[in-house]
Amino acid sequence: MHEMGITAGILDASIEAAENAGATRIVEIKVSVGELTEIVEFALQFAFEALTPGTIAEGAILVVNHVGATAHCNECGIDYEHDRFQMLCPECDSLNVTPLTGRELQVDSIETADEPDDTTSGTA
Ligand SMILES: [Zn+2]
Repeated sequence: MHEMGITAGILDASIEAAENAGATRIVEIKVSVGELTEIVEFALQFAFEALTPGTIAEGAILVVNHVGATAHCNECGIDYEHDRFQMLCPECDSLNVTPLTGRELQVDSIETADEPDDTTSGTA
């Protein structure tokens, strides 16, 4: 399950960024995951649950934004969506294509809190 290592990397980067910003707690981490990475969200969430206790991200939410795979055809010039098994241009059957999206694996944003607030019940 390579998601464990991936999640550890996401977590390390997020904690470092939060600490550099002076935050003492992370409440939410948003990531973008491309379809072509073959990362399974369930496994990411599982790893996140396993790795966050004892860190400043304990109890945080991991929000996964799935990015579909798209490519640009260099023959006929169209952009199109495709799946991981089939990249042929649907218009001209060319394989002379440039991948546009689908390989993302990045942290989009980190929401932090400055003070522990475990009794929150509606002051958003
Ligand atoms: Zn084409």
